[in-house]
Amino acid sequence: MLDIEAMEAFHGDFQAVFGMDLQLAAGETLALIGANGAGKTSFLRAISGLTVSRAAKFTLEGRDMRALSAPERARLGVALCPEGRRMFPSLTVAENLLMGARIGRRGPWNMESVCALFPILREFANRPAALLSGGQQQMVAIGRALMANPSLLLLDEVSLGLAPVVVDQVHEALSQIRGEGMAVVLVEQDIGRALRLADRFLCVLEGKTQLTGQAKGADMLAIGRAYFGEDA
Ligand code: ATP
Repeated sequence: MLDIEAMEAFHGDFQAVFGMDLQLAAGETLALIGANGAGKTSFLRAISGLTVSRAAKFTLEGRDMRALSAPERARLGVALCPEGRRMFPSLTVAENLLMGARIGRRGPWNMESVCALFPILREFANRPAALLSGGQQQMVAIGRALMANPSLLLLDEVSLGLAPVVVDQVHEALSQIRGEGMAVVLVEQDIGRALRLADRFLCVLEGKTQLTGQAKGADMLAIGRAYFGEDA
């Protein structure tokens, strides 16, 4: 489904990602973990086409994505749910969700299925998004990404700043999304939660892959060392 080899990403003269590889099968979930500033957001934005990047290879469902713009990548199935949610605050919940559907991809996600996943969104459909709580806004942001019916869903820090009970709800929803055939990359500060949801993990340090492995039975000590860049 997704095949990335030797991706590099840049913010002007500053290089944030150095030669990262990522292969994902349809339906597979990867936890992308690493300390603040490790390069997780830069990697997701480079995949989405929002940050300047180059790669030896970058295909999604066999199509070369490297020369394509962010909107073209979105039309071909890349959806990013960004850190900080980025709602349209004056638009209603329903209008925000419909923004996700504008690229017109077919698939299982529509107003009905997104509201079945997050029932509170049905209740608040006609409210301005700005009036929702942080957790509810996060549900809108995830719902908006799903409405694009992506084949690759990139979720950046979806639990950041949310109360634990809301994080539970969001993760419960994410566990339902799994198995819908999308490849998912999940950036999550809570490594234990991320590993419970993921099939595999990739730990990034200073823009480079430090450790990868299966999520189930992962060696937490090794992850801790990779996370902080300590020698084994
Ligand atoms: P966090 O968990 O804090 O979001 P992260 O792992 O997502 O961290 P990035 O946000 O990708 O890390 O940052 C990687 C590096 O790139 C950091 O050194 C950061 O300062 C730098 N960086 C990120 N965005 C920009 C930008 N717009 N301009 C310049 N440097 C940037």
